Amino acid sequence: MQEVKSPKKPLIFYYCIVLLLLLLFNALVTPRLMERQVQEVDYGTFMAMTEKKEIGLVEVQEQENQIVFTDKDKTAVYKTGMMPDPNLTERLYAAGAEFSGEIVEQASPLLSALLSWVLPIAVFIGLGQLLNRQMMKSMGGPNSMMFGMGKSNAKVYVKSSEGIRFSDVAGEDEAKENLSEIVDYLHDPGKYQEIGAAMPKGILLVGPPGTGKTMLAKAVAGESNVPFFSMSGSEFVEMFVGMGASKVRDLFRQAKEKAPCIVFIDEIDAIGKKRDSRMGGNDEREQTLNQLLTEMDGFEGNNGVVILAATNRPESLDPALTRPGRFDRRVPVELPDLKGREDILKVHARKIKAAEDVDFEKIARMASGASGAELANIVNEAALRAVRDGRRFAAQADFEESIEVVIAGYQKKNAILTDQEKWAVAYHEIGHALVAARQTHSAPVQKITIIPRTSGALGYTMQVEEGNHYLMTKEELENKIATLTGGRAAEEVRFGAVSTGAANDIEQATKLARAMVTRYGMSGDFDMVALETVTDPYLGGDSSLACSPETQAEVDRQVVELVKKQHAKALDILQNDRPMLDKLAKTLYEKETITGEEFMAILNG
Ligand code: ADP
Ligand code: ZN
Repeated sequence: MQEVKSPKKPLIFYYCIVLLLLLLFNALVTPRLMERQVQEVDYGTFMAMTEKKEIGLVEVQEQENQIVFTDKDKTAVYKTGMMPDPNLTERLYAAGAEFSGEIVEQASPLLSALLSWVLPIAVFIGLGQLLNRQMMKSMGGPNSMMFGMGKSNAKVYVKSSEGIRFSDVAGEDEAKENLSEIVDYLHDPGKYQEIGAAMPKGILLVGPPGTGKTMLAKAVAGESNVPFFSMSGSEFVEMFVGMGASKVRDLFRQAKEKAPCIVFIDEIDAIGKKRDSRMGGNDEREQTLNQLLTEMDGFEGNNGVVILAATNRPESLDPALTRPGRFDRRVPVELPDLKGREDILKVHARKIKAAEDVDFEKIARMASGASGAELANIVNEAALRAVRDGRRFAAQADFEESIEVVIAGYQKKNAILTDQEKWAVAYHEIGHALVAARQTHSAPVQKITIIPRTSGALGYTMQVEEGNHYLMTKEELENKIATLTGGRAAEEVRFGAVSTGAANDIEQATKLARAMVTRYGMSGDFDMVALETVTDPYLGGDSSLACSPETQAEVDRQVVELVKKQHAKALDILQNDRPMLDKLAKTLYEKETITGEEFMAILNG
């Protein structure tokens, strides 16, 4: 798509203009001052001129050990060295000379430059900053338009044949189906107007980062063949109060002119956060939000402007935004499932040269939990890897390695582990894998490596989910916790000592156990009572407790209990399987990377 961006004029632009004017002024004025060259004369001449009362201005410069003076009509400037002359001042006074500091400026080029150039600039910048701060503080309003910076810098995507289509967005079938109604409407608004049906004014695309929300919005524009205006919520919140509101106004003015069209507001949570009554709330954001609401209320549902907005924290949005008549339709854009991941990989693999026999399903399986953006990145990394190796096609191995690169960071080939550390990591990782393999419901191991990653992980076990899991049983969750504790358990079994290597496992195990108790109703004592509510389901899932302090203490106790039990189970599994643990750890120590097949081969003898 062709992108025409209207020019943005930031503050620096205005500084530059004033600076240029200053330079011009100086260029015009300075030469004339410089023409008045200082003429050096001897002391005798100076005395003679004093005698003849021919001195105009005079300046005694003790430090430079010189006297600077002019003639009677102050046209010529002279200077002379100083002599010990106690009565000089009286004689000059008697001769009618004026004592002045003015000449000095001309006589000292450095000082003159300082005063005529640097000072005004410094003053100007200082003033500017003062003004800036003042405006930030003020309630804003019309004066922020003083510099005319309220113009929206919305990117306008002019319709063009190479626009993004629904077919470019893989997976996300539900979202596409939902949005195809909008496409139909934009194609033929008359059909809807006839029957009196109004389109939803605003549609909220909700989902984790990188799942294709922006792509979908562009695809709606591409499919409907209408202009696409896009702006990010954070762009609205600029440095001047009142700017955001005027940008919103401007954006909608442009959109109405170009209707039918799509207006896309990315990261709408940046402006649409719940308004709070706390002291010194963000006035700028509130003004912007209010303006947006006003604009949305101001036009009819069938004037051809469709507003799409994206967010990954819908629950933080101000309720005013999601009321009927505003963003009242919500389209979930979730992380892709196995089939979705495979399709996304294929869509992006079309853009690179991949070998014929690449098994995308296998790659998709390995990349469980990856977003569309991460999958696109994996494909690109694979192509880069092929180029680095001087090959003309990206092969299966390139893709598999890329998953690790994207998910776990680049291989840190030169990281130095002591021999003992390497053994510890080998046992730790095998511990995870062995515990997982010995529990029937745990996912089998895909690959285990003890090559350190830049992400900080010293090794890792890649598990593969079999098909899609939407529901997990209590037993599966418990097994997962046991697997997480398996790393530490192996260290204990082999070395009788523990290391810091399990920090991440501990965190994950705790999270799971906590969720089982507080949200999944899996501890008999609390039955089906929700003790926690999740506030940010798409961003790691921050949660807040909703129970009494006593219950909280009980929750903590149960969480510890749960993890302890699984840890004991893992220890038990490994102790009973000690020879296998040693054998596998030794293989991993020697080879540094073993695949799932190799692992299973050793396990099954
Ligand atoms: P979001 O707006 O949800 O954060 P984007 O739409 O900006 O995500 O996606 C970023 C990139 O990830 C896209 O440019 C595209 O290359 C890739 N991508 C994400 N989701 C998909 C998808 N469903 N199909 C194809 N590519 C995708
Ligand atoms: Zn671990």
